[in-house]
Amino acid sequence: MLAMNYRGPFRVRIQQKAMPEIQHPQDAIVRVTRSCICGSDLHLYHGLVPDTRVGTTFGHEFIGVVEEIGTEVQNLKVGDSVLVPFNIACGKCVFCQQGLYGNCHESNPQATAVGGIFGYSHTAGGFDGGQAQYVRVPFADVGPMVIPEDLDHDDAVLLTDVVPTGYQAAEMGAIKPGDTVVVFGAGPIGIMAAKSAWLFGAGRVIVIDHIEYRLEFVKQYAQCEAYNFRSLEDVVLFIKKTTGYIGADVCIDAVGCEAAGNAMQTITGRKLLLQAGSATALHWAINSVKKGGVVSIVGVYGPTDNLVPIGNVVNKGITIRANQASVKRLLPRLIEHVREGRLNPKGIITHRVPLEEVADAYHIFSAKLDNCIKTVLIP
Ligand code: NAD
Ligand code: ZN
Repeated sequence: MLAMNYRGPFRVRIQQKAMPEIQHPQDAIVRVTRSCICGSDLHLYHGLVPDTRVGTTFGHEFIGVVEEIGTEVQNLKVGDSVLVPFNIACGKCVFCQQGLYGNCHESNPQATAVGGIFGYSHTAGGFDGGQAQYVRVPFADVGPMVIPEDLDHDDAVLLTDVVPTGYQAAEMGAIKPGDTVVVFGAGPIGIMAAKSAWLFGAGRVIVIDHIEYRLEFVKQYAQCEAYNFRSLEDVVLFIKKTTGYIGADVCIDAVGCEAAGNAMQTITGRKLLLQAGSATALHWAINSVKKGGVVSIVGVYGPTDNLVPIGNVVNKGITIRANQASVKRLLPRLIEHVREGRLNPKGIITHRVPLEEVADAYHIFSAKLDNCIKTVLIP
């Protein structure tokens, strides 16, 4: 089969690879019909996630058709169209039992933080991902959901990660009616977080990024304010001023570690931080949230040595909530929002390309070219 293949930082290519096989009675093999590239994939692509091995296939946002099932699989049958949450979850461990499907112990027993994730390095269990014609899906009775007849498949593929993650970012913010919510990052996740913030009753939503086309996009899509941090003299001061020197009620980090560190350089006098992953947005979030406010982090930090002003977190009594999204827990609610028109996931898809063009697709998304927001690969 054809599959995306990681060759090292900034190098991916399409390659022939052996077909995945059932390895466990609870596995299914899925023929992929749509597979997105995520901002999280960029951290792998940029070489920022430990133990990303050459030869692995990325891709944790995919839908497809069940091709084969293991002998113990009961909830799926061959031919079903399924959406597959990015978390690989056993459904039975102590974490899954609490709805923490992103922290499943069984799918990645070696790790202390994250559960298994499709196509996300050996740190996340070493599973091959769905930027391929076929993918092996472990614990097939737990994660995959048969796509309801009335759900558009473009919406479905975005429900595997982007929508639940953006939504959970807002949920973790514990937004109260009328709150001012500041979202750092106008990528797919920040866009969806901004959109979701209104669903929790926000009174004002502000998005910060430095890519003009994305700021324009989010303004329209999420009906919010959007500012370019390069044209603000001081981001923290700007947020303080615009909130009557109180600070934002909720700040959301939807940035994560950045390869180029280009955002990092905007923190003057803190050159030291350049060696770490890009923690700029986190600084801004912590420093511009009000006292007693909430910082909600969904940005992924690959390297472990990000320096953060943790003392300020303590002194300001900020609540930081962070996690991998618990897709399965949120899906029923989100599908209702899509059905009733409150969320329009497919509205963020800007690129639809054959899997064979995966190398170009990564370059375009990584370099933020061609007004790219979200790319769907079609195997
Ligand atoms: P993306 O790369 O498309 O978007 C990130 C955006 O942040 C870009 O537009 C970039 O210009 C902007 N940015 C960079 N530095 C900034 C700064 N200092 N302030 C404000 N904006 C800044 O990625 P995405 O797909 O939107 O994903 C965003 C983050 O969410 C990534 O770190 C990704 O790994 C993470 N993520 C987390 C989960 C989860 O479950 N927790 C799931 C999916 C994605
Ligand atoms: Zn993703």
